[in-house]
Amino acid sequence: MTKVSVVRCPEYEQERVNEAVRRSLDLIGGMERFVKPGQRVLLKVNALTMKPPEAAVTTHPCMIKAVAGEVRRVGGIPMVGDSSGGMVAGQAPTRQTFMMAGIAKAAEESDAELVNFDISGVTAVSGSGPIKTLHIARPVLEADVVISMPKLKTHSATVFTGAVKNMFGSIPGHRKSEYHRMAPRLKDFAEVLVDIFAATKPALAVMDGIVGMEGNGPSAGSPRDIGLVIASEDCVAVDAVASLIIGLEPSKVYTTAIAQNRGLGIGDPARLEITGEQLDKVRITNFDLPSNALLDTLPGFLVRGMLGMLKARPEINERVCAGCSFCVESCPVQAMKMAGKTPEIDYQKCISCLCCQELCPQKAVEMRQVNPFGRALAGIVGHNKKRKRARYPQSPGSDEK
Ligand code: SF4
Ligand code: SF4
Repeated sequence: MTKVSVVRCPEYEQERVNEAVRRSLDLIGGMERFVKPGQRVLLKVNALTMKPPEAAVTTHPCMIKAVAGEVRRVGGIPMVGDSSGGMVAGQAPTRQTFMMAGIAKAAEESDAELVNFDISGVTAVSGSGPIKTLHIARPVLEADVVISMPKLKTHSATVFTGAVKNMFGSIPGHRKSEYHRMAPRLKDFAEVLVDIFAATKPALAVMDGIVGMEGNGPSAGSPRDIGLVIASEDCVAVDAVASLIIGLEPSKVYTTAIAQNRGLGIGDPARLEITGEQLDKVRITNFDLPSNALLDTLPGFLVRGMLGMLKARPEINERVCAGCSFCVESCPVQAMKMAGKTPEIDYQKCISCLCCQELCPQKAVEMRQVNPFGRALAGIVGHNKKRKRARYPQSPGSDEK
């Protein structure tokens, strides 16, 4: 049995987060189990794109400070690093994201080195999936201990993103786009994600599930109060527990299923020991899943027969688009171009990677079922619901929304 701790934390108040992180670690043996004095410990945070902490896109600064504090407490040397997605003027906006997401300040206040993977060099490692040579940021491979610190979020393309997919940020800058292009099929891309996870070998995962993201994550969805910190030495198990909490069957999440099949962790709920909160007490029954998760709620034969009708595709909401062309620059296959003030998409070229939706600062890229039947079905099963939301309207972990 693999142990996963689930600890309540209702808000980003530093003392409360410190306590929750400390307890989540103590329940699995304490930080001293993972970090020895003098070791250089890389906190691989999620710095996806230039959003403030309250947007619930990036790992919250309070979580970073709490985990860095634990590393220091046991004598380790914390570092904080990532590479953002997308391109601005030919470069990943990692430095800007560090500033805007409060990550730079959190690192500074933790006396931790801030590492921008875009400019720290790469080491080539072998992949067993469709990409045979992976270029991974050197600091990730050179750290004595790597801690994956994801945000609990949905993902329009992969349905869910957690501790395993978080390690994709170990690929610097434009190479991330390249990998999307080289592995356009979702299942192949998930194999690549698992290859990167296997190569980077996080010893521990501490997930920021205090405020997560539902709907069309990882950046165009809505923040959702969850009120939890989830930790384990097994990233796959952390993802499995987080999936269960938001109502997703872990085996439906490609990265979880593939990583378990390859013996890299446990995603099978029957083989997990959950400590801290009981799962039934923290489960959320109405978490809004991405549009494409619709396919997973239907029987396989139905999906195979009607795939074309049910598939959603990205479309630009011209009323919301600010014409910044960030998506055009970031599209891995140049399927987008500016047509006047807004981009247009060439669906013959589009590989449905959803990088455009993931990175649009205005949430102007929306997933739409092309077929009226698909749209109707999406309504019936309840995806894409519009839900009014206030911050912390109720006790965290409750499912009464
Ligand atoms: S869709 Fe978004 S990223 Fe693309 S141009 Fe419009 S605002 Fe910018
Ligand atoms: S248009 Fe959007 S979804 Fe299609 S390939 Fe480009 S970035 Fe990916």
